[in-house]
Amino acid sequence: MAVHYRTKGVVLRKKDKAEADRFFDVFTEDFGKIQVLGKAIRKINSKLKSGIDIFCLSEIEFIEGRNYKTLTDATIVNKFYNIPYDFRKIRIVLRISEVLDEFIKGYYKEQDIFNLLKETFIKINNSPKSKNLDLIYYYFIWNFLANQGYSPQLFECVLCKTKLNPYGIYFSCKEGGVLCRHCQNSNNGAKKINSDIVKILRIILKKDWEFLSRVRIEQSSLRLLEDISSEAIFKFSPINV
Ligand SMILES: [Zn+2]
Repeated sequence: MAVHYRTKGVVLRKKDKAEADRFFDVFTEDFGKIQVLGKAIRKINSKLKSGIDIFCLSEIEFIEGRNYKTLTDATIVNKFYNIPYDFRKIRIVLRISEVLDEFIKGYYKEQDIFNLLKETFIKINNSPKSKNLDLIYYYFIWNFLANQGYSPQLFECVLCKTKLNPYGIYFSCKEGGVLCRHCQNSNNGAKKINSDIVKILRIILKKDWEFLSRVRIEQSSLRLLEDISSEAIFKFSPINV
């Protein structure tokens, strides 16, 4: 008899197959990122239909088939109602999915990432008027990278260990954190940042969302944050490491 596996997972994608089947990419609590097949799930009388959908947190049960993991039961735990109706929210979810695709290969338990993902989805869903969505994305990215072993040094120059001078702070993914004016150069790909970025990254890594969501951040700082976040993803992606 087939073994039934039970777990919870956040549904990141869905793709129709044949006439009535559908694949779901699910980031699960116990098996990492998996793909499950909902057989005949698009039929009107499907019992699975109401238990799983894109951008939901579902409790699922599946069996390991020869070619696919086949869904045998599904119950919605959190529907995250607001996400599918706001393209800005969908955009952030898709960006997160892409990062997970790039970094997470194979099926192994990633409890911390699952918890971070769940927390991030709750924040995206609850964000009023889509406020702070980019910040939620950076919150996910830097905590995700820290989980993967890439936590930047944010308190002193990575190379010479001097204290930061607010008038000359640089950031280098290659060196793994902030650099002073004397240590930055074109070889370490240092980028000039400001003390706001350092503060924001520290708060993000402390996971102090309460505080972070109330901080006023200049547009120019958000752009810098976007730059160094994209660079960090590129630099630490398993494809490029
Ligand atoms: Zn230095």
